[in-house]
Amino acid sequence: MSTHSLKFKQTIVTDDVSLAAQRIRLGGLVAFPTETVFGLGANALDTEAVQRLFVAKGRPADNPLIVHVANPDDVRVLTSRIPSYAETLMEAFFPGPLTLVLPRAPIVPDITTAGLETVAIRMPDHEIALDLIRQSGMFIAAPSANRSGRPSPTTWEDVFEDLDGRIDLILKGTQTQFGLESTVVDCTGDFPVILRPGSVSLEELTAVQALTVYSDSSELSQRSPGTNHRHYQPNARVLLVPNPCLDDIPRDAAFIGLAGGFGAHLRYEAKSVADYAHHLFSFFRRCEKEGIRSIYCQKVPAVGIGRALMDRLERAAN
Ligand code: AMP
Ligand code: MG
Repeated sequence: MSTHSLKFKQTIVTDDVSLAAQRIRLGGLVAFPTETVFGLGANALDTEAVQRLFVAKGRPADNPLIVHVANPDDVRVLTSRIPSYAETLMEAFFPGPLTLVLPRAPIVPDITTAGLETVAIRMPDHEIALDLIRQSGMFIAAPSANRSGRPSPTTWEDVFEDLDGRIDLILKGTQTQFGLESTVVDCTGDFPVILRPGSVSLEELTAVQALTVYSDSSELSQRSPGTNHRHYQPNARVLLVPNPCLDDIPRDAAFIGLAGGFGAHLRYEAKSVADYAHHLFSFFRRCEKEGIRSIYCQKVPAVGIGRALMDRLERAAN
């Protein structure tokens, strides 16, 4: 199918949550802000709506979706078993940027979980997102609202750039708080395992519940197929440089990091690692608009939010 034939509708851009909720109920595709990045939502239990969502994003069918709920009790409806450590994590981090992978209940369709016997669930900590889920009366399956492989959107304008004409509606909102996706934790075994680092850090999680990080990459790709795919890549070369970066950056390139990178045409010096994470994807998109071919990104220590930031940087550079 050509890109042109996928341009099928006028995308509404609005603040009207009740209109957006109505579109979700009718099987439509609605982008909305969360505290991590913008999501592209569809009724998680409607196979046809979720099918359209995969097409709109160009997302590979083997990459499962996260189902968003507005109430922790809804997790029970979508799953068949919740270990006690998962209850502990939910009490501490719902609502928030933590996604739990649990054994799925039969009502969750195959397409939403990419055929896996598990379902990923989170409760976003964002007024508009919660309002949308509540008003629609649905569970909302929502991957990031970008074309597959691209940097995640942190403003509604980013969503518009990638998906105008391909989805029904964009709910506006301000730039997202974290700028990186949720932390994904597998809760199907005897103990919890991090499948994807994200906006809740390992340190914050372990303060509440002992858990491990997946290091075996072949096992990881089986448990979380989405981690195999191309991710977060702008239309420019991403290069990783040390901190501090004492070398001059080429004058037609861009630099983002904590210190140095002088000489770059476009430069963002972050105030902290969290600020760096918050701005990374929007900086990528700004570089694209300015026609920059090389983006130099400073490495950070892989602790706290730095772990998720390094994960995204390495994937973007790949
Ligand atoms: P995103 O595309 O940013 O929404 O990312 C969703 C992430 O959640 C991907 O890394 C998926 O592989 C992961 N995920 C979703 N559902 C599952 C599941 N049932 N089991 C394991 N990982 C999942
Ligand atoms: Mg994504």
